[in-house]
Amino acid sequence: MTMRFDLAALRADPGRPFSLSQDVDLPHVEWQGETLRVLGPVHVAATAICQEGEIILRMSVRARVRRTCSRCLVELVEEVAEDGTPELHPDEVDGSYLELAPFIVAALRLGLSPKPLCAPGCLGICPECGADLNRERHREGCHGQTKRLDPRLAKLRELLDELPSER
Ligand SMILES: [Zn+2]
Ligand SMILES: [Zn+2]
Repeated sequence: MTMRFDLAALRADPGRPFSLSQDVDLPHVEWQGETLRVLGPVHVAATAICQEGEIILRMSVRARVRRTCSRCLVELVEEVAEDGTPELHPDEVDGSYLELAPFIVAALRLGLSPKPLCAPGCLGICPECGADLNRERHREGCHGQTKRLDPRLAKLRELLDELPSER
């Protein structure tokens, strides 16, 4: 994958935004010990500008990533949309080009959900009997059969799942 800005051109024309829009091939992304498959190209739009001698980069990354539901383990496709202004370290802008590859990977990782769900109300797998509660009932003798999830607790669980985890 090659997507980059010519730093000399940027510096020669301060205040002028330079834009790039490209489909980038990135078949896999490493994320928290997992190798996730990226389906199709990653759509990247980037703008760079030189302001008061500093390079400012803005990026928008769109991708489809194969994930596994964090509750029921079914496969799903997560649509990743991440927009940001990555911080540039001096050594990233002291060569001839500002290479975007590392920023694309970083944006993709940032945009991935820590707890992907096949559906907001996914019932998951019973930790006791192993039944996939989206498709079947608890197995014979499972204590989960007698416990019904209080709707207020279900809401709480959803909220907890939405809390950002450590990245
Ligand atoms: Zn699920
Ligand atoms: Zn059960």
